[in-house]
Amino acid sequence: MTSSLFTHDRKLAPYWWDSVPRPALEPAELPQRADVVVIGSGYTGLHAALQTARGGRQTLVLDAEDAGWGCSTRNGGQISTSVKPGFDVLVRRYGVGHARAIVREGQRSLDWIGRFVADEQIDCSFAVVGRFHAAHNAREFARLARAAAQQPEGLAVPVDVVPRAEQHNEIGTDAYWGGVVYRQHASIDPARYHQGLLERVTAAGAKVIARCPAARVEKDGPGFRVTTASGVVDARDVVIATNGYTGTLTPWLRRRVIPIGSYIIATEPLPAEQMNRLMPRNRIVSDTRKVVFYYRASPDRTRILFGGRVSTSETDPAVSGPMLHAELARLFPELRAVRISHSWCGFVAYTFDELMHIGRHDGMHYAMGYCGSGVGMGSYLGMRLGQQVLGLAEGRTAFDDLAFQTRPLYGGNPWFLAPSIRYYRWRDRQ
Ligand SMILES: Cc1cc2nc3c(=O)[nH]c(=O)nc-3n(C[C@H](O)[C@H](O)[C@H](O)COP(=O)(O)OP(=O)(O)OC[C@H]3O[C@@H](n4cnc5c(N)ncnc54)[C@H](O)[C@@H]3O)c2cc1C
Repeated sequence: MTSSLFTHDRKLAPYWWDSVPRPALEPAELPQRADVVVIGSGYTGLHAALQTARGGRQTLVLDAEDAGWGCSTRNGGQISTSVKPGFDVLVRRYGVGHARAIVREGQRSLDWIGRFVADEQIDCSFAVVGRFHAAHNAREFARLARAAAQQPEGLAVPVDVVPRAEQHNEIGTDAYWGGVVYRQHASIDPARYHQGLLERVTAAGAKVIARCPAARVEKDGPGFRVTTASGVVDARDVVIATNGYTGTLTPWLRRRVIPIGSYIIATEPLPAEQMNRLMPRNRIVSDTRKVVFYYRASPDRTRILFGGRVSTSETDPAVSGPMLHAELARLFPELRAVRISHSWCGFVAYTFDELMHIGRHDGMHYAMGYCGSGVGMGSYLGMRLGQQVLGLAEGRTAFDDLAFQTRPLYGGNPWFLAPSIRYYRWRDRQ
């Protein structure tokens, strides 16, 4: 389907790939063995590999597609503390001590990624711009203001309440009922970040082989035998870092993550004066809807990158693009005639408890289930996972002992998504 909403040279691929095309890695021969085989070359896999390679382990990273082809070069580049359930929910589930540890882990992931990018001098437009989290109705504004005033002792973060009358200081729309600014949240160019990370990983001596899907992992004595499209490799340790693309390779994990489509468009370049009016503080933006919309300016402030869950399973960005455009125009009526230059999507991994998980199953290490918020957390848990493979005490996290839940009859095909999203959309309108 073509649409006049698109520019004539529109791309159905991530905007980020314009400046960082998927790396054409030299075809490499599969080694016969490695100390560590990492499956998946996004942030989780590469951060695990960076630790093990720098720790002296021969490390091999495999990806079924090009390096970083999954969410790690497709996302919106918004970085938060990533833990979705509120403190009260966590206390009810796990008790005060563990709840505190989980919230702190989220804050640590945010601090850590900023330090990592600075220490490694990765040129990726990382900036602590703050997040404007907008209330989609008066009730939600009251809830946000109350939460800002009553933060749990010892876990308070800098947050500013923005009433509706002052909203235009943050964003050029009247569609919201005010909101809050989380000052420490950040933005990044996700593909340049991934590229810098990939370069650090190969410089540390790890081998990255693209277009080499792992088809089977079997126990073999004290280690593993990994069968791939290009041959067999023996490994002492295996790391599974496939997140929303987890498939039949690991049925136990597949039953525990729910792949959900997330969609983004980029607008054609907008006049500077209009950008300054619509996004005066250059914040990243999200809202209180359960079926959330998230957006930001491009790093050069010429375009708006607008994302959300306009479908559950659509894989054609030519279809999802116009759906997102309708939502963009609802929030910013003056953008009704602005065209889409890029439209793309990817699959994130939700979990039944809305928490991320890291651990070991059948001897294989894994980290996944970031529930759509994995730029900071996927990086951080990938790093911790690498430390766990090395047997280092600092690799422990507050997520280690959480049961990774599934549901009866769930095998990895989320048949229940469409009705759930319809229900949440209805609730968002109340
Ligand atoms: C449109 C979109 C917007 C998003 N926006 C944000 C955001 O603004 N902020 C945020 O924090 N998060 C966001 N996310 C989520 C975030 O990008 C992810 O949580 C994160 O990138 C996950 O990284 P990962 O390394 O675990 O997985 P991925 O980057 O998805 O990598 C998994 C890789 O595993 C590979 N793979 C799968 N099976 C095999 C196999 N059998 N053999 C070999 N390789 C295999 C895949 O090819 C893939 O490359 C967004 C996601 C999407 C799709």
